[in-house]
Amino acid sequence: MTQFEKPELVCPAGTPASLRTAVDAGADAVYCGFKGPTNARNFSGLNFTKAELSESVKYAHDRDAIVLAAINSFPTAGRTDLWKNSVDDAVELGLDAVIIADIGMAQYVAREHPDQRLHLSVQAGASSPEAINYYVEQFGVKRVVLPRILTVAEIKRVHDAIDCEIEAFVFGNIGMMAEGRCSLTNYVTGVSTNMDGVCSPASHVEYEPDENENLTTRLGEFAIDCISCGETAGYPTICKGRYDTAIKKNYYAFEEPISLNLTRLLPDLIKAGVTALKIEGRQRSRAYIRSVVSSFREAIDAYAAGDEPDISQLIALTEGGKETEGAFKSKTWR
Ligand code: SF4
Repeated sequence: MTQFEKPELVCPAGTPASLRTAVDAGADAVYCGFKGPTNARNFSGLNFTKAELSESVKYAHDRDAIVLAAINSFPTAGRTDLWKNSVDDAVELGLDAVIIADIGMAQYVAREHPDQRLHLSVQAGASSPEAINYYVEQFGVKRVVLPRILTVAEIKRVHDAIDCEIEAFVFGNIGMMAEGRCSLTNYVTGVSTNMDGVCSPASHVEYEPDENENLTTRLGEFAIDCISCGETAGYPTICKGRYDTAIKKNYYAFEEPISLNLTRLLPDLIKAGVTALKIEGRQRSRAYIRSVVSSFREAIDAYAAGDEPDISQLIALTEGGKETEGAFKSKTWR
């Protein structure tokens, strides 16, 4: 096994308690958002008030971890002050970087807070060197979070042609790989992933049992799955529903419930030039965060020392017990 420099382990936190858990489990960096629509995980009960974020930044910094503010949804006309205020608050609180998707907000950060470290969110969907270098040249972006549509070989080619760091997702939910561009939930609920930060809002989810204890899952007016008695199911999203189509009945027409798990590809990713490894899941429980973060901490440390890590625990944490290396290795498209 080749030894390598340790990459930064970037972990999710939906609450102050999760942030402390992630830091204690070995995160180098934790990303989180303010309450409200300014970030792409705007679920009830999640995210931070300004006071909570202030305490959380102190907690992380006292333990040599950094905190990144995800302000990565897209403001609509008349609402931009909310996003600008979030940026101002993040700067005031000493966040180590702000993660931006909207090009106007990138300009706002560059103009009003030129010393603030700026990362380009996966939601910006920048996957070509030309697009990434535009953000670097115009706004001083220091890191791009790459969309999950590139192979490792393509990441290497991007790395060789850009002037900023690369952060890549390595574990967690994987949707239709259309970050910043998915409108399925808008169509069904009127609430937008990209502008309101919510996919499949809980207020629109209904479960309808039948006499055999099967559960039909509805989102808005649409049935998106039917779960048999005893079958395990994740949180319902349209992209992972089962549908009857002209080709086939009752099948995952878009994407199966499955988790991205790139543990085995970590050495290849590092060699390709990835400097930060991102775990998805700000909506996840503290127990999940603790297990995934500590497993990745061990895996990175083992690889860096030239050893083979034990990743069996991570497989148990994947959605539906199923994992994929997605486009990074061998994604097949329908
Ligand atoms: S429907 Fe799926 S791909 Fe679209 S935003 Fe929701 S989780 Fe992502």
